[in-house]
Amino acid sequence: MKAPLPRSTRPRRRRLVQGAVALLVAAAVPALTTATADGAGGGSPRAARNVILLIGDGMGDSEITLARDYTVGAGGRLHMDRFPSTGTYTTYSVDSQGRPDYVTDSAASASAWATGHKTVNGRISKTPGTDTALPTILELARAKGLATGSVTTAELTDATPAAMAAHATDRDCQGPADMELCPRDTIARGGPGSIAEQSVRLRPDVLLGGGRQRFDQKITQGPYRGMTVAQQAEKLGYRVVTDARGLRTAAPGRPLLGLFAPGAVPVEWTGRPAAAGGTEPQRCVTANPARPAGTPTLGQQTAKALELLTAGARAGGADRGFFLQVEGASIDKQGHEADPCGQIGETAAFDRAVKVARDYADRHPGTLVITTADHGHSSQIVPLDATPPGLSSTLVTDEGSRLKVSYSTTTTPEDGQEHTGTQVRIAAQGPYAERVQGVTDQTELFTTITEALRLR
Ligand SMILES: [Zn+2]
Repeated sequence: MKAPLPRSTRPRRRRLVQGAVALLVAAAVPALTTATADGAGGGSPRAARNVILLIGDGMGDSEITLARDYTVGAGGRLHMDRFPSTGTYTTYSVDSQGRPDYVTDSAASASAWATGHKTVNGRISKTPGTDTALPTILELARAKGLATGSVTTAELTDATPAAMAAHATDRDCQGPADMELCPRDTIARGGPGSIAEQSVRLRPDVLLGGGRQRFDQKITQGPYRGMTVAQQAEKLGYRVVTDARGLRTAAPGRPLLGLFAPGAVPVEWTGRPAAAGGTEPQRCVTANPARPAGTPTLGQQTAKALELLTAGARAGGADRGFFLQVEGASIDKQGHEADPCGQIGETAAFDRAVKVARDYADRHPGTLVITTADHGHSSQIVPLDATPPGLSSTLVTDEGSRLKVSYSTTTTPEDGQEHTGTQVRIAAQGPYAERVQGVTDQTELFTTITEALRLR
């Protein structure tokens, strides 16, 4: 089937009919008209069959560097360092008047790439002023018949997955019992209900993560009243699994809801958090006693999601492709806790999910893989003799060197560390990968993905 004309070619076409001057200018600089970012030249760029979008929450350049230094060495390379196309993008959010808010939260940030529009911090895929729902990539992909999925180490109702599958005035409106800040979103008021209810009603093929506590809440309004959200999901056809074994044995043919923890999925690594005045030099513990055996890793979740989406996209004979978002959520959460080992372990776990995605793309040409972050975080690598005003810790790396990391966005550490407003890395391979080069804004990621998948 012939793909519709991609949006990217439309402005070029309009320019060409603007008159002789424009034509002469275009003729005088043929290199400019052929060397467009999408490599289109005079024709349409090749569409992507599948898109895998991997988000390291709170994974700024500083957090990437810290994980690289500790796990593979200063001169080593992570899997996320190996993409052929790399750029940076800006992440600021806006206030209700549309003026910049220079430090975004995960809700506004995820809404920006999910919908192509900036919004206020705390909002889930709705406008900043009028609080109106905006269509998301996952909804557009679903409407076009693509297989769709969302994977996270956070609660499935947390900001990043929520922005793809739901619309809410406030990110805290995660389950039916959490609707205090979203009176207009309640089913009783004609709204769509909580983020958990909306996520299962949209019915992506794969929803994997934490947050079982939200799905165990009772629905109090509407046609599913009296059921839990997990029961609503089963009514809508979902198989519900809660551990690695259930995940492994889930077969294609039914949508899958995996709820692997009551809250966020427990982190993989542990160590001493940063402290005022620093810590003794420490090695990270590459295990977490509080992580139940049978908790799937982000890489395992990603691999299973890709298996099911591949089958789902091919169901019925056609290959319609898929869209999958994967979030490594606790890079951010451990940053807030000023816990460098927890943070590095989650970055390493995310990097293994990146490898799963890249290996998949090697076997399935036409897959666009993008890795980026939603905002930077508080960790800074500082000289060993530095005396940071906040919290710090000294790590002994695999290379045998000492590395000092500072968390100093606040002088009242009990409040937790903060995000930063830095630009973050975006890297890609596959069709449309060139679009991430240079300096872009995260709203352009929406355009890149929707054009690559011909969703508009
Ligand atoms: Zn955060």
